[in-house]
Amino acid sequence: MLINLDGVSKAFGNYDVLRDISFGVPKGSFTILVGPSGCGKSTLLRMIAGIEDPTGGTISIAGRVVNDVEPKHRDIAMVFQNYALYPHMTVAQNMGFSLTMRATPKAEIAAAVARAADILGLTPLLDRKPSELSGGQRQRVAMGRAIVREPVAFLFDEPLSNLDAQLRGQMRAEIRALHRRLGATSIYVTHDQVEAMTMADQIVVLRAGRIEQIGAPLDLYDRPANSFVASFIGSPG
Ligand code: ADP
Ligand code: MG
Repeated sequence: MLINLDGVSKAFGNYDVLRDISFGVPKGSFTILVGPSGCGKSTLLRMIAGIEDPTGGTISIAGRVVNDVEPKHRDIAMVFQNYALYPHMTVAQNMGFSLTMRATPKAEIAAAVARAADILGLTPLLDRKPSELSGGQRQRVAMGRAIVREPVAFLFDEPLSNLDAQLRGQMRAEIRALHRRLGATSIYVTHDQVEAMTMADQIVVLRAGRIEQIGAPLDLYDRPANSFVASFIGSPG
């Protein structure tokens, strides 16, 4: 497993947001965390990224327990729903920013940005500002910013929720193709069952801070563990 969670819990004050969360993310897999709004998906992703500390349990990345490792030393990249692009920077500057912060040589940054732009079809847009881009293009820049870091894993938090239905369908296919092309390992959070069923190798179904079931899309569809999973995934079962 490239990423492993063992008995992870999280409380804010005396409110238990997540309890006893254990699952593994195989290298190269596209794992989706799905569940209703408020069930703890973002909190879980933030703990894997290191932005939030677990109350209990252990999180390992590439065989190393990272509970006490700072986010910037976990070597994973996060893509958010609101893009979080810097409005005053160009596309190229946005994409290269994290490397600039690491004092990577300029020529190396330019090469990494050019490579990512080529993969994402952003080459003609490198000198534009975010305000001059469409929603889909901004989402590609956000992915480009993650790609240039060559992280061991990508974490996505509902990256398509601000896009219209048609673009969302197109971007699902793009993200999946990108994942394959990069040979990436990805954890993707969504509350959208269709997204989960069409994109995932492995689905982790969450409800109210607990795991209801883990399995491939067809497993969940054919053999839902309980009526919550059945109704959430949309099978008659
Ligand atoms: P999801 O992403 O599945 O919609 P979240 O992980 O954002 O859910 O939130 C899960 C629960 O934890 C919610 O009830 C939310 O209000 C609560 N929560 C999230 N972050 C904090 C925080 N920093 N302090 C207190 N409660 C929080
Ligand atoms: Mg969320």
